[in-house]
Amino acid sequence: MIAFFLYFKNTVYLKLKIDLKVKKNIVFLLGFLALTACKDTQKNSFKIGIISDCQYCDCDVKWDRHYKKAPHRLKEAVATLNKDTLNYTIHLGDFIDKDFKSLDSVLPLWKKLKSKSYHVLGNHDFEVKDSLKTAVIRRLNLENRYYSFTEKDWRFIVLDGNDLSFHGALTQEKKQQTDSLFNLLKDKKIPYLKKWNGGYSLEQLSWIKKELELAIKNNQKVGFYCHFPIFPIDQHNIWNRNQFLALIKPYKNVKIFFNGHNHAGGYQMKNNVHYLTFKGMVDTENTSAFAKVQFDKDTITIEGYHREPSRKLVIK
Ligand SMILES: [Zn+2]
Repeated sequence: MIAFFLYFKNTVYLKLKIDLKVKKNIVFLLGFLALTACKDTQKNSFKIGIISDCQYCDCDVKWDRHYKKAPHRLKEAVATLNKDTLNYTIHLGDFIDKDFKSLDSVLPLWKKLKSKSYHVLGNHDFEVKDSLKTAVIRRLNLENRYYSFTEKDWRFIVLDGNDLSFHGALTQEKKQQTDSLFNLLKDKKIPYLKKWNGGYSLEQLSWIKKELELAIKNNQKVGFYCHFPIFPIDQHNIWNRNQFLALIKPYKNVKIFFNGHNHAGGYQMKNNVHYLTFKGMVDTENTSAFAKVQFDKDTITIEGYHREPSRKLVIK
């Protein structure tokens, strides 16, 4: 009897010990899995800075654009962005309003950014003497007027909406393409056929297609940056937006199109692409506008400063 009791006691004790060990292992395993899952979702996360339409010139106030306040606002934005760890910062065009010398007042402030930085070309960036237009491109550190770069599982395609335009077409061929596109659209009464807007050349459109194919091949999501909006439709859009939309339609990996140009800002979602216009930094007497943007697996979170609204975009 005693022998049986001892046997029973030892068995229960052993069982308890094994149970505890299993429990411990399960807790450890669950912890490990949670950590791995967390690491997996964080693996492709990153944060960037976005500024649009800094638009400096040594000019008097016009249409609520406080040009002379741009350097102060840029300085404040750079200081705020530098407090964070950002993968890059991008300016969405119209860094200056006019005059080549305007760059001297804002470029040194921009260069204080700790993160990598990129520029998108805007219409006002070409409001300098004809002989200095290519020099603007060089000073903005652009090897090409349109280009792409990758960040984690994203391909960012930076477009040049001044490629065909009355201010930014710099070769004979581009000037001819500008005239024929403008004349082709002239009778269609579209609200955005304004001389201060522009379009994508045939060469740029076929380059975009190659970039989209590359993104598919590399399993990348695509984000576009341009100075001019595609949506909502108003007087600010790129001239050949319909050509662009037809081109990107088959590519379900296109997720965002971020731009400036319309200082009032704007947003529209179309075919699961978020079209977002960032507000102009130069506008209003006392407020600025810029943003930090956090990219995660399924969402993009805009942390707006001053006039720029905060919002969450779901990636579909
Ligand atoms: Zn503009």
